[in-house]
Amino acid sequence: MNLGKIIGRSALVLSAVGLMTLGEFSLAQAAGWQPTLKVGLLQGLKTVTLSVNQPCFLTVGKKKLAVTAGKDLVITRQGGNFQAQGKSLPGDKLELVSQDEKKAAALITKINGQSYRGGVELAAKGQGFTLINLALTEEYLKGVLPKEMPPSWPAEALKTQAVAARTFALKNRGRHAAEGFDLCPTTHCQVYEGLGAEYPQSDKAASDTKGEVLVYKDALIEATFHTDSGGMTENSEDVWGSFSPYLRAAEEVETNTHPWEKTIGLNEFGQKLAAKGLKVGSVKKINLSKLRVGHKDTDRSASGRVKELTVVGGSGTAKVSGNDMRSLFGLKSTLFDIELKGDKVIIKGYGWGHGLGMSQWGAKAYAAKKNYREILAHYYEGTNLKELY
Ligand SMILES: [Zn+2]
Repeated sequence: MNLGKIIGRSALVLSAVGLMTLGEFSLAQAAGWQPTLKVGLLQGLKTVTLSVNQPCFLTVGKKKLAVTAGKDLVITRQGGNFQAQGKSLPGDKLELVSQDEKKAAALITKINGQSYRGGVELAAKGQGFTLINLALTEEYLKGVLPKEMPPSWPAEALKTQAVAARTFALKNRGRHAAEGFDLCPTTHCQVYEGLGAEYPQSDKAASDTKGEVLVYKDALIEATFHTDSGGMTENSEDVWGSFSPYLRAAEEVETNTHPWEKTIGLNEFGQKLAAKGLKVGSVKKINLSKLRVGHKDTDRSASGRVKELTVVGGSGTAKVSGNDMRSLFGLKSTLFDIELKGDKVIIKGYGWGHGLGMSQWGAKAYAAKKNYREILAHYYEGTNLKELY
């Protein structure tokens, strides 16, 4: 997908900020402009209490209702209409926007007591409605970054996170298009908690990298990241099954980080495999080469993550992928050794997460000697940093 497509994706958002159409995007034209993200905060609502910090309009179709700053506005959905200020507002979509476009960037909307930057959209769905926050990308990031990386971490690490989170958000705009918004506020997309989550250090990381995104051959990348690689990140084909030129196994400052251990009863181990259709009878043996982080083997990937192990039982043999092991037994990573000891299966591993793209703990370690540009180039091979706006 190219940048033009991404930026031009939502005609509504573009007209709201009053700029450019599909294909017109260029860095020179983009001065002062940034995309608005539609974040679906609440679904299945019947009523909501809103208040704003500046005079706003509640718009429905061509109708406009003036909304006073600092006063509670209760909106309900009843009998196929929205109701507000004692008036019935026929229509399926309400928008709460600033009366003064120049002040729109400073608009804060309190939604059932929780503050978010930007306005909101209420979209009817079934008997109720979905509440969507209309947040400028940079304002959205402020409410995301502290939830993704501790604000106390080094500035260069926080900046890598800001670029990765910005790139992720813009690349994944429209991920929830079927539900009427771009992104959800949970780990499915990125955790977003608005004003209450913000920290000065994270805000600074966002403003220091304003508008910067990662591109590969001029297209936004899938800027995936994880908590800790355990010693080496992974090639995309060994996690997703598909090749990505920029998601390649990358070295870390330290190996064997974030050690973890999990013990599973032999019966439970066999039962969980059987439930997955891997019936081998009573488990006798598990074959897997010894883990050496950063060393490939026939059953391990370039980083040493488990590609496949073999379970030998009384009535058969089954091959189990590392990814299946991870989801079946809730393992932190696929970088592990496994041992059968009496009636227990002991799994010892390193790292936390899928291992693709940037390791957050790795970025923290690199921040002592590299700047954020160098760190990003290390984890996303062959990519460039571009100022999108
Ligand atoms: Zn989502």
